[in-house]
Amino acid sequence: MRLDRFICKHTEHSHQTARRLVASGRVQVDGAIATDPRFPVNAFSSIQLDDHILQQQDAVYLMLNKPAGYLSATTDPVHPTVMELVADALRPQLHIAGRLDRATTGLMLLTNDGHWSRQITAPEHKTPKTYRVTTKEPISTSAEMEFAKGIWLAREAVWTSPAQIERLAETHCRLTIYEGRHHQIKRMFAAIGNEVCALHRESMGIIQLDPHLAPGDSRALTIEEQQSCL
Ligand code: URA
Repeated sequence: MRLDRFICKHTEHSHQTARRLVASGRVQVDGAIATDPRFPVNAFSSIQLDDHILQQQDAVYLMLNKPAGYLSATTDPVHPTVMELVADALRPQLHIAGRLDRATTGLMLLTNDGHWSRQITAPEHKTPKTYRVTTKEPISTSAEMEFAKGIWLAREAVWTSPAQIERLAETHCRLTIYEGRHHQIKRMFAAIGNEVCALHRESMGIIQLDPHLAPGDSRALTIEEQQSCL
């Protein structure tokens, strides 16, 4: 259903007033201001007009052990998506807090709480994200220094924030980064003349991938895990 129709249906406001209320930024959907009256909402959306809650969903916070081959998207005509791995009833309300490439495995967070996901993904919060990386070539001795200094990303014309490498073997390391730019780790390794063959996210902030979760399985976050991002 469109947001303006939802407001008409759940308040005394006319259709015209509902459109104006939305356009003037007084309506929030899942914690973010929605200014497009056609914005799609459903039975799982949390909707608020000024301080008045029109519809509230219980917050859901999940961690998923993402298998390789699944897209970080809600739907896709070709590839399976991570949403297909969660319960049908939850699917319409969830979004991804921190995407992973299709081949990347490991910790993925899913929630219906837009405010929470912005906290964990906003670049200014510098949430540490730790990955296990397998490379094609041996990891050079200068990699530590280059990643600590920052890598120039030409597309965005920015330096990456200092990142830390823990060397595990010749072609294996644990890497901690503090942003989540598109293909960031692949581009960082490409910039130092190497190639990423496999990538697995182990943690985001204090939230560690639960070792009991098989690939494709998910569980609710504990209160401590959920509150660690606030
Ligand atoms: N960096 C990448 O290159 N890919 C991911 O999936 C995550 C971080």
